[in-house]
Amino acid sequence: MKLTFFGTSHGAPEVGRFCSGTLMETDGVSYLVDCGAPVDALMLNKGKSFETLRGVFITHMHEDHMGTLPAMVKEFGHYHPTAHAHFFVPEENAIEAFRVWQAAMHGGWDEKRVIFGVSAPGVFFEDEHIRVWGIPTDHIHGFPTYAYAFELKAEGKRVLFTGDMRGDLADFPTAAHEETWDVIISELTHFPIEKYIDVFARCRTKQLIYNHKINYNIEKMGKLLPGLPFDAVVACDGDEYVI
Ligand SMILES: [Zn+2]
Ligand SMILES: [Zn+2]
Repeated sequence: MKLTFFGTSHGAPEVGRFCSGTLMETDGVSYLVDCGAPVDALMLNKGKSFETLRGVFITHMHEDHMGTLPAMVKEFGHYHPTAHAHFFVPEENAIEAFRVWQAAMHGGWDEKRVIFGVSAPGVFFEDEHIRVWGIPTDHIHGFPTYAYAFELKAEGKRVLFTGDMRGDLADFPTAAHEETWDVIISELTHFPIEKYIDVFARCRTKQLIYNHKINYNIEKMGKLLPGLPFDAVVACDGDEYVI
């Protein structure tokens, strides 16, 4: 499988860095984890097809993770009339709100080709290529909404996306330590990395890729990465990894 990081910035774009969106390609189809702006444009610039996109999985409703969802859904209707995919958001209310918004902008969407669902703890999506599992995190406080880490399994390989987490990493997925992974993809924004590097050192994975990175952590990584007991890198926008 191939992973492409379209946007590796923190909660806002930086010069040369856009918001979150990571594409997994496998078996001639693809799946997108998060849809921050301008992931639709970056997909096109990288030659990625909307027609082979089968699923879009939103970790949580912060706009740096779903801000370009309206454009994506519009493009399915107007510019890619044979494209079809499942779109998963973390709560039912978000679908209805988005339906009203999209109707006001573009008259809604083709329900046969744009199929919305609600992500949930445990397996919430499975097809002949991939299985997706939701692991709740505590990233969002004080508002009745949800945030998830995701496990994606394809080609017999296991990929863990942490999504955004709490500032004390109390919600770091225990599965990262208790199970074995081909790659773990972690955010690098909401905690001081030097304080929690041991949380990452205890991961049972062949590879660790940091994304969603903030400047005060990036500058520390040159010293910290070599101390981790597996291959560990910090992704940049446009990076591709074959797993
Ligand atoms: Zn974020
Ligand atoms: Zn967030």
